[in-house]
Amino acid sequence: MTWQQRIDAALDARRAADALRVRTTVENGAGRFLTRDQRRYCNFSSNDYLGLSQHPAIIRAWQQGAEQYGVGSGGSGHVSGYTTAHQALEEHLADWLGYPRALLFISGFAANQALIAALTDKTDRIVADRLSHASLLEAASHSPAQLRRFAHNDVAQLASLLDKPCDGQQLVVTEGIFSMDGDSAPLADIHAAAQRHGSWLLVDDAHGIGVTGPEGRGSAASQSVKPELLVVTFGKGVGVSGAAVLCSDSVANYLLQFARHLIYSTSMPPAQAMALRAAFDLIRSDVGEARRQRLAAHIHQFRAGVRDLPFELTASRSAIQPLIVGENDRALHLAQTLREQGIWVTAIRPPTVPTGTARLRLTLTAAHEASDITALLEALHGASE
Ligand SMILES: *Cc1c(COP(=O)(O)O)cnc(C)c1O
Repeated sequence: MTWQQRIDAALDARRAADALRVRTTVENGAGRFLTRDQRRYCNFSSNDYLGLSQHPAIIRAWQQGAEQYGVGSGGSGHVSGYTTAHQALEEHLADWLGYPRALLFISGFAANQALIAALTDKTDRIVADRLSHASLLEAASHSPAQLRRFAHNDVAQLASLLDKPCDGQQLVVTEGIFSMDGDSAPLADIHAAAQRHGSWLLVDDAHGIGVTGPEGRGSAASQSVKPELLVVTFGKGVGVSGAAVLCSDSVANYLLQFARHLIYSTSMPPAQAMALRAAFDLIRSDVGEARRQRLAAHIHQFRAGVRDLPFELTASRSAIQPLIVGENDRALHLAQTLREQGIWVTAIRPPTVPTGTARLRLTLTAAHEASDITALLEALHGASE
């Protein structure tokens, strides 16, 4: 096949499976409302769980940071792009989350790729929950290490995989709150199994940080677990963008030598680091606490109201409340029906989720009002009659 034939065939296969991905241009898509073509929709597809992306104190911090530092960092952190703003944010995160060190990355995707690539080699084994995020599984499959996947949250299967002889080191990989199902990993049991085998645990808490646990410290803190490697991302509950790896002193120093996504990439704008500092101040304060409680009330209202609908709910107690509908075209049709009623939800289809589990991935946020949840429930009732 020529290049052109190969590309056309791949696109045709996606179209035939109702799985072609297209982007939608929106005027604004992060807050309570999504606006598109001048029309306003109630937004149930944003990961801005605490509504912080629109918070005036964070916006002001970003503006002040831009005035102080300019808009760009000017280089990799290894050259001239590691400013006092970056350092202050790293120290704040390390102190808050109880680790010796934090290293900033421009995205969670980059952090996961860098971490797995820098740590593992061909004698090692990565043992990952099979529903782990693409950034983790892809990094693991590109790694020369052996990749073994365990059934979702199945600690017994994890332990039996760890039992198999391994010449090198083993790394267990999972998430705090799963991005497509919204349920939590049993981190204490997973960490105990890892420790029994002398393995390290990497927890990606993209959906837990800021949103759950004491002061919003995330899934690991809420389960009193301290994984050797903790990845937190800032584009979801924190409302901004970027990520950090929390780790020991020596792992941080090691990553500064070998994490290519750090060494060969421009560091985040210092103004963004300032905005993130402001976001964490809010997350730790009464504002954060009130927003977490408000979100919890919305989750409760939604789950109680959806009980008698003909959809499969997951075990999620988080802001991510998927309705599993099965077939791709049914998920798309349902999303379209809701959209006509001013409700914006996203249909998630394979290969993002397993075949036959196409779903509406609904996300509830503290930016919603109780009346928004009521309207969503009424529309779902209507659509399923
Ligand atoms: C969103 C997400 C990422 C990627 O983080 P970005 O900062 O958006 O690149 C990584 N892991 C999980 C579990 C995620 O949900």
